[in-house]
Amino acid sequence: MINRPYLPSIDQLLQSEQVQPLREEFGHDLLVNALRQVVEGLRQEQRLESDQKIIKNAHALLRQWSAPTLIPVINASGIILHTNLGRAPLSEKTFAAMHAVAVSYNNLEFDLERGKRGKRALHAEQILTRLTGAESAYVVNNNAAAVLLVLAALANRKRVLVSRSQMVEIGGGFRVPDVMRQSGAKLVEIGTTNRLHLYDYENALQEAAALVLCAHHSNFKIVGFAEEPSLSDICAVAHAKSIPVFHDLGSGALLDTAAYGLAHEPTVQESLQAGVDVLSFSGDKLMGGPQAGIIIGRKALLDKIKKHPLARALRPDKLCLAGVTATLLSYLSGKATREIPVWQMISRPLDEINQTALKWKRTLSQGEVIPGESMVGGGSLPGESLPTALLALQVPKPDRFMQSLRRQRIPIIARIEAERVLFDPRTVLPHQEAYLLETLQQLLQAAA
Ligand SMILES: *Cc1c(COP(=O)(O)O)cnc(C)c1O
Repeated sequence: MINRPYLPSIDQLLQSEQVQPLREEFGHDLLVNALRQVVEGLRQEQRLESDQKIIKNAHALLRQWSAPTLIPVINASGIILHTNLGRAPLSEKTFAAMHAVAVSYNNLEFDLERGKRGKRALHAEQILTRLTGAESAYVVNNNAAAVLLVLAALANRKRVLVSRSQMVEIGGGFRVPDVMRQSGAKLVEIGTTNRLHLYDYENALQEAAALVLCAHHSNFKIVGFAEEPSLSDICAVAHAKSIPVFHDLGSGALLDTAAYGLAHEPTVQESLQAGVDVLSFSGDKLMGGPQAGIIIGRKALLDKIKKHPLARALRPDKLCLAGVTATLLSYLSGKATREIPVWQMISRPLDEINQTALKWKRTLSQGEVIPGESMVGGGSLPGESLPTALLALQVPKPDRFMQSLRRQRIPIIARIEAERVLFDPRTVLPHQEAYLLETLQQLLQAAA
């Protein structure tokens, strides 16, 4: 029903009973903006519309404007560390520690003993040194920031030796050497793409250098005629010339992946044992914590790093520090595989995954359980996979089905293989399982 032979004024609409709950929910100003946009649209189209309809359209706009863009999703892809899906989901204990610090004041930079200004850097340092045995530690915003800071603090305008095979791009067009160059360090490439020898280091060290850098290959693997000296041999050659070695470990495994049927991913502890002087890794890859860049190593070098002006620009926030500390505590108490989701997923027995997939099949009365592979992802263990059990659904239009999965209130990310939509129970978090099954039931009914 059209209320009047002309478009209503905003004031007229604001008088309506119907807009009062919208004013309450979205606020007066946003409501006025939405009403204006709807009325203006009608004016341009030279159309009349009932007040009810105008308000309804304004409500839709308000919902659209106030919907968050960053929301939880269900990862049924089987890729444990999916950079596009936010990498590591946090442990309950980690979230609890972050929540506690978030909703209260805290002693971020306050020395409670002396009642004076304290140091932010102290919070994660204690647990990092205790856990790894390193002399000193420092946390920054992410691992790219860690690499930038270490090079800026230790090698600005000086030569840094790095293997040609380690000049990698880690996704999203992001290249590690580009970050390194921003530090002001002069990168000296040594070796060839596939082969690097100890004498490459020895030759390059004839000339003065500030640092030898070893970077994890991250997301690719060189197979065939390839060779690289061991980290301890590289350290011996560099140390003979009093040059420190910096290892960008990328993922930062603190546990041995080989214990779970994967290839061996170099661990933080091994790198220190090999004699590396400074090393850095991400907080949200295999460590399984919040986004962070963790730097550990010799105190004299860490002191320089902490004092560099960039350290202030790259500093972590209180939530990050609380989260990193809580995550590391699970390792310190030997409970990482029980408490940290990434390690729960890696260590989940195949039989248990198979049981879950069979249960899904029974609940849906559809599909087939087939063997497949889960990936670790996050630039660690390229080409490696874990055997898994997948629920495979045969649907008329797999691409369309995938799209409707992504359009749910909690979007569901699956994968397609051989025209079937596949769901890997390994990466579906327990608290999301019921929603996943309900949604699949509804979508399958609609598609039938
Ligand atoms: C992932 C990765 C980085 C970047 O770490 P972020 O925490 O994502 O900044 C740097 N170097 C290597 C080798 C990596 O694998």
